[in-house]
Amino acid sequence: MRAAVFEGPGRPLALRARPDPVAGPGDLLLDVALCGICGSDLHATEVPDYRLQPGTVLGHEFAGTVIASGHPDWRPGDRAACIPFAPCAECEPAGECRRGLAATCPGVTGLGFSPQVPGGYAERVRIRASQALRLPAGVGFEAGALLEPLAVGAHAVAMSGMRPGARVLVTGAGPIGLAVMVMARLAGAGAVVVSEPGAARRDRAARLGATAVIDPGAAPLEAAFAEATGGPPELIFECVGVPGMLQRMIEAAPPRGGIVVVGVCMEEDRLRPRMAIRKELNLRFVLAYGRADFTRVLRHVEAGEIRAADFVTDIVGLAALPETFEALRRPGTQVKVLVDPAR
Ligand SMILES: [Zn+2]
Ligand SMILES: [Zn+2]
Repeated sequence: MRAAVFEGPGRPLALRARPDPVAGPGDLLLDVALCGICGSDLHATEVPDYRLQPGTVLGHEFAGTVIASGHPDWRPGDRAACIPFAPCAECEPAGECRRGLAATCPGVTGLGFSPQVPGGYAERVRIRASQALRLPAGVGFEAGALLEPLAVGAHAVAMSGMRPGARVLVTGAGPIGLAVMVMARLAGAGAVVVSEPGAARRDRAARLGATAVIDPGAAPLEAAFAEATGGPPELIFECVGVPGMLQRMIEAAPPRGGIVVVGVCMEEDRLRPRMAIRKELNLRFVLAYGRADFTRVLRHVEAGEIRAADFVTDIVGLAALPETFEALRRPGTQVKVLVDPAR
C-alpha cells in the first residue's frame, strides 16, 4: 500500500510503498476513506522536543471501511471512525480506561505518532476494535473523520463545568476553536463569541453559529466582548496556544471566571499568578477526549445539529499530501483539510 511517511525534521513527508498491515486478534484493518490533517501533526514534525521518529506515518483523524476483522463484533464492510488512543491491555476489556482517565491514563497508546503504531496517512490502517466507533447509516466519512477534532471541543466543554446560559469567549477559529464554539452552543451556552484575527476564519465562525465574532487587532477584546454580550466572559476557552495568550486571558477574565486551556502551547510561557489569584480564576487544562465525547458528538451529527462539511476547506489525495502539509505550516485560510487516499 501507499503511505505518506515522516523521514525527518525539515523534510517533506514522502510517499512510500509499505507492506499492508495485518489484523491480529482484537484488531480491525480499515481501508482509509478520509483522514484529517491536524495541527498536532504539523507540531510533531517541527518541534524538536517531540522527538518524532523517522518512519512514522501520521494521521489520527480518520474513518473508513473494515476490510478484515479480528473481532467478533465487526465484519468486512462495516464503517468505522477511530478513537486515536488505545486503552492498555488491562483497561481494554472495559472499552476504555477503567479509572475514567481517558487520554491521561498512563497506559494508553496513541496512534499515528510513532513508527510502531502507524496512522491514517495511508491507504490502510490497523486499529484495535476497542478504538472503533460504528458509523450509523446516514453519517458519511467526512463527518466520521471530523469526529476527532469535534470530540476535543466536546471534552473541553464537558470539563469546563459551563453553566447553561453562560457568556463564553473562544480565542482562535481553527478547527479546535470552531469545535469548542459549536459544542458550547449545543451544551447550552447563552452566548459564544469567537475572537480571531483572520477574516476568512471569522466569517466561518459566524456561519457555524458564533453569537458574534471579534477581530482582536481591531478593538480591545474586553470592550468588544461586552458590547456583543452585555457583560464579561465568565468562561474562556483558549484555543490558540501561543506564548502570552494565557496571561492575556487572565487579564480579560472577570473575578471568579474560568479559563480552559485547549490550545497546546509548545514553548515556555509566562504568566503573573497574582492577577489570577486576585480574581480567584479557575485555570483548567484539558487533553483530548474519551469515548463518551465521541458518542456525544456522533449523536449531534446524526441529529443534523453539526454539519461536518462546514469545517472542511479542501480534500486532497495522498500524492498531494506532502505539498499540502508544508503549505499548512504557513498561516492561511484553510480550516480542516482531509486526505482521501483513493484519489
Ligand atoms: Zn488531531
Ligand atoms: Zn487506565
